[in-house]
Amino acid sequence: MRLILLGPPGAGKGTQAKLLTGRLGIPQVSTGDILRQAVAQGTELGREAKSFMDRGALVPDEVVIGIIEERLRKPDCARGYILDGFPRTLPQAEALARALTSLHASMDRVLSVEVPEEDLVKRLTGRRVCRGCGNMYHVDTSPPRKAGRCDTCGDSLYQRDDDKEETIRHRLRVYKEQTQPLVAYYEGLGLLERIDGQGTVEEISQRVHRALG
Ligand code: AMP
Repeated sequence: MRLILLGPPGAGKGTQAKLLTGRLGIPQVSTGDILRQAVAQGTELGREAKSFMDRGALVPDEVVIGIIEERLRKPDCARGYILDGFPRTLPQAEALARALTSLHASMDRVLSVEVPEEDLVKRLTGRRVCRGCGNMYHVDTSPPRKAGRCDTCGDSLYQRDDDKEETIRHRLRVYKEQTQPLVAYYEGLGLLERIDGQGTVEEISQRVHRALG
């Protein structure tokens, strides 16, 4: 199954993508994770992407399109994948459609995870991520058992540079202007399912499950 998780930063796409990975046995493909890894490793891609990411701006289309084209050709994507954080602009969506055509494949479903803006700001400012395994926590709603440490692997938790309030507001504006139009685009293609992204991880996961049938 090939799936896109669409939604603003903080909607819970990454969390739901990880749960779906386990359930469907297909990989999560997150351009944000790929870019953060490149930044951490100090590669040329990482150096190019960092200034955009720190400002909460989008990395240029040609860069992320190149990343995705390469990633989707890997053998683990042969049975499907969950796209998380891509596409984010109309040119990216069109490039994805062309890449799928060249691979004789098509998109099965696009889930739009919807959450009111004020909730997103609260979620993102409190978000903490594990340096080791990428597990996510929230200082108020899902704190780790031991402060600052991952429950799963014990590594330290950190706040993403772009999870500071001013950058968050900017990312949400960028989402509205550049990414939200994709909801109508995929609705027009008959692929869109809207998911209420409010509630517990488990509740949202059940809605996702129902939407996928
Ligand atoms: P995310 O983890 O999906 O919130 O992505 C973090 C940051 O990586 C974004 O704010 C962008 O700077 C960059 N990024 C991730 N995916 C894309 C994309 N599809 N297009 C452009 N920039 C992206």
